[in-house]
Amino acid sequence: MLRVAVVGSGPSGCYTAQSLVQRDPEVRVDVLDRLPCPYGLVRYGVAPDHEKIKSLQGSLRTVLEHERVRFLGGVRVGGPGGLPARRLRELYHAVVYCVGAATDRRLGIPGEDLAGSWSATEFVSWYSAHPDAADAGFLRGVRTAVVIGVGNVAVDVTRMLVRGAAELRPTDIPQAALDTLAASGLTEVQMVGRRGPAQARFTTKELRELGGLPDTDVIVDKAELALDPADPGALPTGPRRNVEVLRDWAARPPAVAAARRIRLRFFLRPVELLADGGRVGAVRFERTAPDGTGGMTGTGRYEDVPAQLVLRSVGYRGVPLEGLPFDPASGTVPHQEGRVLRDGVPCPGEYVAGWIKRGPTGVIGTNRPCAKETVTSLLADVPALGRAVLPEEPVAALRAAGVEPVPWDGWLAIERAETELGARLGRGVVKLSDWDALLGAARVLS
Ligand code: NAP
Repeated sequence: MLRVAVVGSGPSGCYTAQSLVQRDPEVRVDVLDRLPCPYGLVRYGVAPDHEKIKSLQGSLRTVLEHERVRFLGGVRVGGPGGLPARRLRELYHAVVYCVGAATDRRLGIPGEDLAGSWSATEFVSWYSAHPDAADAGFLRGVRTAVVIGVGNVAVDVTRMLVRGAAELRPTDIPQAALDTLAASGLTEVQMVGRRGPAQARFTTKELRELGGLPDTDVIVDKAELALDPADPGALPTGPRRNVEVLRDWAARPPAVAAARRIRLRFFLRPVELLADGGRVGAVRFERTAPDGTGGMTGTGRYEDVPAQLVLRSVGYRGVPLEGLPFDPASGTVPHQEGRVLRDGVPCPGEYVAGWIKRGPTGVIGTNRPCAKETVTSLLADVPALGRAVLPEEPVAALRAAGVEPVPWDGWLAIERAETELGARLGRGVVKLSDWDALLGAARVLS
């Protein structure tokens, strides 16, 4: 028998487990997660109104319910109180780290930490009911917001800021976030890119969705689009379509009666967050110009955009995991085809997949081939790793270390509690958003 631990139950962890059981009839896989709930960013990153993407949970569920896969929630690996990575190696023939990119990139500009300035990740965690997220009063007194960055996360948070409560009510958004968004007095969001529309990272489908939001006008300035003289016809399909959509919007007359506006801005690089009464009051941008090679240069001209809320959506970043090598430049674990490299030397028995392996890029499906490559390396190493019976049973060892894992039944009990909460509120499933509620449901009801 081959016993493998997969650390992280998001898409990369689930696809790794799936590939393992499909390709080795004798493997047994434990999928560990520090949270009592599975699915990683599918549960805690995909926006609640993206129900189609969220439905991917159904196929990840099939993996975690496979007879040779076991979900062990509430198990932290590394860090204070966590199971050390070297201990995990003693309990399994091989360990695959699929821990994602747990933090956000920094802008590194003055005022970044002013009250009212948040990373998009913090905002996403809040509306996704992540138990570590604080209800930070994101929208208190906010009339205008700035979202820095033009990737898909920026589109998500922009859309969520203006989406009406009526549309979010049927989703699983936690009640407190729904109430806050319903009471919001926000009228305008500016989503701002430091380069041009052709270099924006959002995908066209996500961009187009902004144009279909009820009672919301999308405004694009023709003059800003014209700053890039490059011929859109020469662009690859994705950027070309983005530019076409933006040009269409720029050509439309503004909707007079819309309650909310989204302004898509380009060629503005943030240089400082300006305070007003101890909180953020505006963002100072420098106008940029294309440098002809896809980059940009500063022009020395500045524009202050008023905002009582700033969401910095400039990408995720991996965090070092105690006991594993880490490349601070890329925020990833150095690897060769998924094998962890220590001082440049592959370490059979230790692997990575997903964002901690290749950085925070790509869509959910990108994790499938990524996981497959790692599993190919792992299975090629099996002759060296051996399949000898291991001396300890992992769950018994975890309990001896004072960790009581949340089993799959515990997660099913959380799901039932979320259905019951929704029924009490006259809604569908509503997510539980704090540790006590999650662990209470998992342990009491299971
Ligand atoms: P991203 O796609 O890497 O976009 C980051 C954005 O931040 C870019 O516009 C980037 O501009 C900008 N940026 C970076 N540093 C900056 C700085 N110092 N000042 C100003 N702007 C800066 O990251 P993301 O939006 O977090 O998305 C992460 C991944 O998740 C992506 O692969 C995304 O497609 C995926 N995702 C997909 C969906 C979906 O499919 N619906 C939803 C959410 C996320 P530059 O290009 O100029 O660096």
